[in-house]
Amino acid sequence: MTQVFFVGAGPGDAELITVKGARLLKEAEVIVYAGSLVDRELVRSYAPDAEVYDSAGMNLEETTRVLAQAALDGRKVVRLHTGDPSIYGAIQEQMAELDRLGIGYQVVPGVTSAFAAAAALKQELTLPEVSQTVVITRLAGRTPVPDRERLSEIARIGATLVIYLSVSMIEKVVAELLQGAYTPATPAAVVAKASWPDEQVIEGTLQDIAGKVKEAGIGKQALILVGDVLRARSEGMRAKSLLYDKGFSHGCREGIVT
Ligand code: SAH
Repeated sequence: MTQVFFVGAGPGDAELITVKGARLLKEAEVIVYAGSLVDRELVRSYAPDAEVYDSAGMNLEETTRVLAQAALDGRKVVRLHTGDPSIYGAIQEQMAELDRLGIGYQVVPGVTSAFAAAAALKQELTLPEVSQTVVITRLAGRTPVPDRERLSEIARIGATLVIYLSVSMIEKVVAELLQGAYTPATPAAVVAKASWPDEQVIEGTLQDIAGKVKEAGIGKQALILVGDVLRARSEGMRAKSLLYDKGFSHGCREGIVT
């Protein structure tokens, strides 16, 4: 069947692609990948002989033409995206173009960079009684953000935030967050190039994180994480989860009554 596979490459580490994604890459004859974010070595390590296109210098018409032609020629074709394709991946318009051309496709998920950043920090993002909600968001850049999702509005919830595509505007991020439920003492972290060999982790509070990030010269491939969950490692946990509590019964285990 004629089809294109949209594959999540994961956050960087070549071992953080899914088994299915790796298999599809190995089998691929044609690969279009986002060279600005996906490591060329990752592509080459899985598919040394494939015909490879870097989408960084291509527009939607050009990437669609390559994907469609390869699929129509009966060649195995992968469109490789960084992290998970559904998060700021611009895949919807590519799928719409393939729909228009009557070409089928499948999406294979990947590990989004938020989870690589949490792993780098060794931090659970959902702690009982602290936050049970994670918001993935960004500041408006050239891509606008709907008005009701302004960071200052989102900040009213006070949940754990993972902010993509915004580290170059970190002062503005901090200013907007302080209009919500966060305070200058709220912990914040920036993880750059999560899971890459040159990964960088910067930790602080909303008071000092912007200065620390500028000082470290963090590039744009970085995430900002904010929220009281980040306090757990330095100040200890307030509440443990019930899941492994010895007195808590659930479908797989009887609690011990003392
Ligand atoms: N689809 C991707 C996100 C693409 S948008 C994903 O699921 O991760 C690009 C933004 O993602 C960057 O500006 C940065 O904020 C973030 N990003 C991607 N890879 C990253 C990494 N390895 N470490 C930190 N941030 C990363």
